[in-house]
Amino acid sequence: MNEQAPQEKPALKPKRGLAEQIKAEHGEDVYRCYQCQKCSAGCPMTFAMDYLPSQIMRMVQLGQEDELLASKTIWACLSCNTCSIRCPNDIDIALVIDSLRERVLQEGKTPAVENVALFHRYFLDNVRKRGRTFEGELLARYQLKTGQAVGNAALGLRMFLKGRIGLLPESVSNKKAFREIYNRVEKRGGEK
Ligand code: SF4
Ligand code: SF4
Repeated sequence: MNEQAPQEKPALKPKRGLAEQIKAEHGEDVYRCYQCQKCSAGCPMTFAMDYLPSQIMRMVQLGQEDELLASKTIWACLSCNTCSIRCPNDIDIALVIDSLRERVLQEGKTPAVENVALFHRYFLDNVRKRGRTFEGELLARYQLKTGQAVGNAALGLRMFLKGRIGLLPESVSNKKAFREIYNRVEKRGGEK
């Protein structure tokens, strides 16, 4: 009988590069992740994500950059740091996700959840000015741009009455030092 040897399947080769770049730029070594899933189990935003935080880490290890930059997860993340605190390998998952968001913006790609990306940009503009957020200006700008101003006016008023939104902006006391820190972060590839 002429038995044919089984064909060998080509091994799945991870694309190197993305994980190394994240390590060089932010000091986070995603190869330490062993998929225990503690990050995903504690994340409050998984209902709005297309990949769990642990899956994002695996995709970074495998260099699946196109899928990562097109994912909703990176925009659903609140940067609450719960995942980073829970990680037994001290990986700052929130920082890795933030670096992916920045990569989308730097490469001029369209964020998978546009309004969140817009809010992210306005938030950074807002902080850049005074070192503190001025919620009134931030929300007004965002809501005018997205056309939600009328529907959310009552909510804004309630927040104001409860003291959640200040009437006047506040600044950090040492604006010069803040600017220097901000500019250093910008030079390292942060949001422009
Ligand atoms: S930082 Fe983002 S990914 Fe991590 S737990 Fe919070 S929302 Fe989830
Ligand atoms: S908690 Fe840390 S080690 Fe566990 S899956 Fe998440 S990133 Fe990986």
